[in-house]
Amino acid sequence: MNHQKSKVTNSQKKTRKSASQGVRVSNQLQNDQQTPFSVSKGNKRHKIFREKMYLNSSYMKSFIKKASSDSFKCLKCTDNLKKKTGKETMYCENIYSHILSDMHKNNTPKPEEEKYNTLKQLIQETLQRKKTKESKKEEVKGNKCEKSYLGFIAFLVSQRLSYSQISKIGRFLQNLYEKDELDFLQNNHFDEETISKIVSDCFRPILQEDLQEKLMSSKFSISIDTSTIVSETICAIKVKFAEHQGSFDQNIQKIENKLIGITSFKGSSDGIAYLEAVKEKVLYNDILRSNFVGLTHDNAASLKSPEVGLYGLLKKESEKSLFDLTDPCHGVDLALKSSLKNIPERIIEFIEGIHSFFAYPQRKAQLKNLQERNKKPKLLLKDYVHTRWLSLGLSLKRLLEIWGCLEGFMNWKKNQQKKKNKNESKKIEQFEKSLKNPTFKLEIRFLEYIISVINRFSEALQNQAFHISNLKSEI
Ligand SMILES: [Zn+2]
Repeated sequence: MNHQKSKVTNSQKKTRKSASQGVRVSNQLQNDQQTPFSVSKGNKRHKIFREKMYLNSSYMKSFIKKASSDSFKCLKCTDNLKKKTGKETMYCENIYSHILSDMHKNNTPKPEEEKYNTLKQLIQETLQRKKTKESKKEEVKGNKCEKSYLGFIAFLVSQRLSYSQISKIGRFLQNLYEKDELDFLQNNHFDEETISKIVSDCFRPILQEDLQEKLMSSKFSISIDTSTIVSETICAIKVKFAEHQGSFDQNIQKIENKLIGITSFKGSSDGIAYLEAVKEKVLYNDILRSNFVGLTHDNAASLKSPEVGLYGLLKKESEKSLFDLTDPCHGVDLALKSSLKNIPERIIEFIEGIHSFFAYPQRKAQLKNLQERNKKPKLLLKDYVHTRWLSLGLSLKRLLEIWGCLEGFMNWKKNQQKKKNKNESKKIEQFEKSLKNPTFKLEIRFLEYIISVINRFSEALQNQAFHISNLKSEI
């Protein structure tokens, strides 16, 4: 919208400019009369005298003569001009406005009137043509602007940025443009190495300093975990602390959870390696050590062991007590996983089977088509991932939501199948039998209900806000 607006303003400017041309020309004449006529010393550059200016008119050629590279003389008006301004010449950009002026018209003898009128018409036509050409140029510029705008949006979309991110980038640039601060685009490099250097050398120290200041004035805990990527063990440490917000008499606190360091374990990822990482990234001075209250982790031996784990080693180094919390979400997930081992095998088999059955794009499309034909919402099964918390609960919820559709699908597929693939036909028949069985559906609904309660608890624990009361009610 905004670029449209500025386009209009530009062309409005242009129109105003040409409408006031007459006034501007006479101002120009006065300016020219005040300054010495030879060469302008100011920063304004004058038009160069060219043969083209005669417009092929021999009549004009008979009284307009070149005086210098950028000025001319009118033989008919020399005396008059000199009397009025003390000068005999005018700058080339005023050539036509002079011929059209009252002074020149009055100095044209009666017998030349016809020739003068023909020349006047020629000049007016030329000026009109020039004006049209300029407005066309303006239009081309406008089109170019629109093209750049669409190109810019298309590029950002192709980089898979979200609409909200694109909107933010656009407004950021627009804001800089309005403040005339876009010159940096011309004078800087955007290669990856430079950007990485800016982040690590300029931003990181500032962010680190800022975080350190907060940890020096508040109690904090850490959470720590590792992940193996292409046979390299990467350790990440986050700090958690309460940040005071608002004025001091208001007791508003917000839990901050910030990444403070990532490090790569060269050798083994034992308790000593963890201890070194924590000392290097977090506990590097006395105040930090005294504000440190505890740690949370996923219950691995190298972290929890009182002898050789990180917790034990940290305890040995300081006299004060440390709070060691095995991540409750992890614990809940482990408990859930082992509880699932106790439910009848056929239930888990069905859940896993039907999810992998619909992993094929062709079957997904067939299900969608069937839903469309029956005017049902187009919903597929979720991607069920064993290792992700909450995944089973969410998957079961969806399974129940489209239970009827799945039953219809299996029925349709059975009739389609005939004797193509014995194995698959058998599978489909089994699915259909289970989906038609109301007792089986009740079993799944019951399982979904229990898991949804556990998931809600897990979500409450993962919540970053201060809701201890909430936790109590959930437990
Ligand atoms: Zn003249």
